[in-house]
Amino acid sequence: MTKPAYKRVLLKLSGEALMGDDAYGINRSTIERMVADVAEVAKLGVELAIVIGGGNIFRGVAPGAQGMDRATADYMGMLATVMNSLALADAMRQAGLTSRVMSAIAIEQVVEPYVRPKALQYLEEGKIVIFAAGTGNPFFTTDTAAALRGSEIGAEIVLKATKVDGVYSADPNKDRNATRYATISFDEAIAKHLQVMDATAFALCRDQKLPIKVFSIVKPGALKNVIMGDDEGTLVHV
Ligand code: UDP
Repeated sequence: MTKPAYKRVLLKLSGEALMGDDAYGINRSTIERMVADVAEVAKLGVELAIVIGGGNIFRGVAPGAQGMDRATADYMGMLATVMNSLALADAMRQAGLTSRVMSAIAIEQVVEPYVRPKALQYLEEGKIVIFAAGTGNPFFTTDTAAALRGSEIGAEIVLKATKVDGVYSADPNKDRNATRYATISFDEAIAKHLQVMDATAFALCRDQKLPIKVFSIVKPGALKNVIMGDDEGTLVHV
């Protein structure tokens, strides 16, 4: 059997990835399928850390937050990611996977705080670490949390799960001639104005020389293909 291409990865799941076809919240069969995908790669011995978003519940910049103080809305968004983390950890437990949720904001009766050496220890023990509450600061996104935690834990790559199977030359839903990039450099992605991640997250990955793989979470087997280093999604590299 061929070996996985990576030893330690940071997987970024958006809140929307949990919704399935629902309008909001967490869709049971969607989260179960996602956990099955994660279980498949965990079985290969890959150390997995996950940053989960909160957009399926609350987003600080969403219309629902209009008129609110932005920082307050963002703290609500961070709490939404804690809810998603709990749901994900529970689904993992039901699937026989051991995970630990670590929060960037103090909420110790619910989940343990983020402590870097502890996170590294869990990963070495083969536990899946779920980073909740983003960076712990308003005005940031969970993409930035993924870049930050990915750098902190020495992940070889950030895997950004989306609904499209990579980065395209144009919007594939609008332009039939849009083509998927198999690989693209950070500089080229900037020059071509390709929105891979928000600017803060993107800059951090570029500065840390942390590659990003954009791939589809909806496509069956895609996560495993990415882990095996197959031609799947788009690799953004230095
Ligand atoms: N958020 C924040 N700081 C962070 C991460 C998240 O304030 O470091 C808040 C922000 O309001 C954001 C919400 O949490 O809109 C949910 O995160 P995000 O929008 O990144 O979730 P996703 O789009 O991945 O579901």
